[in-house]
Order: sequence, then structure tokens, then C-alpha cells
Amino acid sequence: MATPLRVLVHGGGIGGLGLAVALARRGHTVEVAELREQLDALGVGIIQPSNALHVMRELGVLEDCLKAGFEWEVLTICDPSGATLAKIPQPRMDDAPANNGIPRPALAEVLGRAAAEAGATVRFGTTITGLADDGEGVDVTLSDGSTGRWDLVVGFDGIGSPLRTRLYGDRYRPEYTGFANWRVTVPRQSEVRGVVMSTGNLAAKALLTPITDDLMYLGAVFAEAEDFRPDPERAHEQLAERLAGFGGPVAEALARVTDPAAVVYSRISQVTVDEPWHVGRVVLAGDAAHASTPHLAQGAAMAVEDALVLAQELDAADSVPAALRVWEERRRPRAMFVQALSRAVLKQETGTPTTPEEDELLEVGIPGAAHVLVKPY
Ligand SMILES: Cc1cc2nc3c(=O)[nH]c(=O)nc-3n(C[C@H](O)[C@H](O)[C@H](O)COP(=O)(O)OP(=O)(O)OC[C@H]3O[C@@H](n4cnc5c(N)ncnc54)[C@H](O)[C@@H]3O)c2cc1C
Repeated sequence: MATPLRVLVHGGGIGGLGLAVALARRGHTVEVAELREQLDALGVGIIQPSNALHVMRELGVLEDCLKAGFEWEVLTICDPSGATLAKIPQPRMDDAPANNGIPRPALAEVLGRAAAEAGATVRFGTTITGLADDGEGVDVTLSDGSTGRWDLVVGFDGIGSPLRTRLYGDRYRPEYTGFANWRVTVPRQSEVRGVVMSTGNLAAKALLTPITDDLMYLGAVFAEAEDFRPDPERAHEQLAERLAGFGGPVAEALARVTDPAAVVYSRISQVTVDEPWHVGRVVLAGDAAHASTPHLAQGAAMAVEDALVLAQELDAADSVPAALRVWEERRRPRAMFVQALSRAVLKQETGTPTTPEEDELLEVGIPGAAHVLVKPY
């Protein structure tokens, strides 16, 4: 489509801002309605695997991401004592770097700045309150009382997506997996120059991820009751109790965690929209359509791939609905692969019985998945 489109993005997280950059750089008019009052993000880090970095290059922000983060190439697997079991070089997509660890606030800043420079507008503290699609466009009312007509509305509003509920009712609710992730940022130990994954027969896994020259984060997954919440006075001690069986760099990192407020606790849930991801001119993308457990560190990578591919298909198609159909054909298999393998890894690591299909996927495993995902998106 040669005509510039008017696009409203619901949610200014990683995927929403990525889409704003991709579309605004192509000359479309983009507004982002973001519920939060500012572009803050959890103060922990995220891994950008090579496919995500490939997208960052296409969006023109690769150098900014690398400058704000910590580029790394080798995944180290240790036993719980910290003894090295394997060093696995990570593949690259084309000539994109293999991986980058980056603080989430820094990534939000890089994408937010690029979106603004490209001409997109982010309206903070704003959400959709009314929506009517007449086939030719979508009339939207926002919570600030303003109204507008858009060619396309994109729900990048995360795993709890209110837009998903608006489109599909309660058919797709996030499903709690029974496991939760504990994360905390600590000073980087000089020997941690890539992700260090400590694993073993403890029904638990701990990861160290460098995110800047000075910082890394310690992450760990444990079975937790759905209503469990860490004690705000002693969350760091509760984390230490759970990691008591670990030695080596994990124990060293843990010894530096003294502030319970620094511990970030997230329940791990997943959701898959089985029906088409668009209804007319309203479409869901990223976690709103296909949130997976974080075991492959690919959720945000899938969100930014969704964003770039959507911009490409809007360029190529002769109508918005046609673009949405082709976009989903390209995106669904890849997102479902990530989701299914992530779920299988979670089950394997926690001793939950797996299906024959999951056993087949587990043959690919985490190292194999990286090779699959550096193939074109
Ligand atoms: C523990 C953990 C570790 C992870 N680690 C990695 C990793 O290393 N690498 C990786 O690639 N992925 C990782 N992920 C996954 C990744 O965080 C998500 O997949 C990614 O953030 C999804 O991007 P998104 O834009 O779809 O949603 P989000 O980033 O969640 O953004 C949603 C946005 O919508 C906004 N919003 C919500 N409701 C409304 C509303 N009503 N109106 C307007 N705006 C609204 C929110 O405020 C938010 O800004 C991890 C996830 C978890 C839980």
C-alpha cells in the first residue's frame, strides 16, 4: 500500500514501540496509547537473541542496543556447584551479533527515542475505551475523551491484553503454569561474559545474564503456589533459601543480594489465541496473541519480529485485511514453535510428564532452537 496509513498501537511495551518505529519510518501516522504514565520498565534485564538483534538492525537501533547492553556469544552450562559442563557458541542471524543482554529500562528508552525521532506519538496514561470497526476503518474513543478514526488498531498490550478480551471475550485467559521466576540485578562478576546456566537434579535452574559492563542479573525458576507472594521484608532471604543447593558464581551473586526490594517476582503464565489474530481491522500481536514461558528467552524477540513483519506486509499488500492474513501466516508457525518448545522445556526441567510431540521438540532443545530461530522470520 502506497498510501500512508493511520495506525493506533494499544500498548507501548517492547513490541508496540518496535512497531511504532517500523511504521513511522515508512511514513505512516502512528499513535501509541500506553496505560503507564511514562516509559518505565521492570529494573531487570532481558536477553536479545540474534533474531531480535537482526530486527533491531532493521529498525536502525542495533548500535544503541549494543551500546546500552552487553554483547555475548557463548552459553555456559554448569552443574549446581558451578563446575562447567559445556560451552555452547551461539549462532548468528546473517551478520547480526549472537546475543545482547540489556537492562529493560534501557531497551524501552532506545525504542521510545527511535519512535519519537521517526515521528510517532506516545500518549501516556491512555487506553482504549470504545471501538467500532465498520470495515473501512475503526472509530476509537480513548480514555482522555478524544476520538479518532484509524485504518488499523494493533493490540500490543501484553499477556493480560484488554483488547483481546474486547475481541474474544473470556475465551483466552492467561494460564498459570505453576512456576514463577525470581530475578535480581547484581554487580557483574568478571568471569560472567555470557549467560551461565546452572542446572542439575535440584528441580531448579539458575541463570546469570550480563546486561552491562557493571551489571548482570540472577534469575531462577521455582514451583510456587498461584497465590504466593514474596515477603517484602525478606524476599532476598526467600530467594536464598530456594537457591541453597547452588554454589559457584550463583552463590557468589546471591551473597550480594541484601535488599528485598530489589527482588522481582513474576508468575509464569502463557496464552495462545487459537482463532485468527485479527478481527476486521483490529489485530493482536506479541504476548497478547501468543505469550510463552520465558525458557527460550524469545518472547520479546517474537514481539519485535511480529512488529517488523507487520510493517513489511502492510507495504506489500493491497489492503489492510490482506496484509493481516499474510502476516499471520508468516508469524503463527514461528510463534507456536517458540511457545510449544518453551512449555516442553519447563515441563522437562520440573519433572512434569511430557507428550510424544513435546518429546520430539525436546530433541531440538534450547541449543537447537537457537539454530532454528536464526533462520529468516
Ligand atoms: C521472567 C521473564 C523473563 C523473560 N525474558 C525474556 C528474554 O530474556 N528475552 C525475550 O525475548 N523475552 C523475554 N521475556 C518475554 C518478554 O518480556 C515478553 O514476551 C515481551 O515483553 C512481550 O512484548 P509485548 O510488547 O507483546 O508486551 P509487553 O512488553 O508486556 O508490553 C505491553 C504493554 O501494554 C501496556 N498495556 C497494558 N494494558 C494496557 C491498556 N489497557 N491500555 C494501554 N496500554 C496497556 C503495558 O503497560 C505495556 O507497556 C521474559 C518474560 C518473563 C516473564
